[in-house]
Amino acid sequence: MPIYEYACTSCRHEFELLRPMGRVNEPADCPECDGRALRQLSVFASFSTGSDGQMSAVSGGGGGCCGGGCGGGACGTGM
Ligand SMILES: [Zn+2]
Repeated sequence: MPIYEYACTSCRHEFELLRPMGRVNEPADCPECDGRALRQLSVFASFSTGSDGQMSAVSGGGGGCCGGGCGGGACGTGM
């Protein structure tokens, strides 16, 4: 199951959740305030930098040989 990022609409808490692909667009429950959290749009198989400057590897969707760990260099995504 792929991991998706969700952000609470009430307290803005962000968290990751394992969900079946068929339910990805359904709102999730915020673990902090039990409010409603909506899925964050993020780029698959690449590094995403959060608003706090923390870098986290986002692997999912599939296709990449290393999950984006090589930064697209060793993978030969270009030529
Ligand atoms: Zn919340």
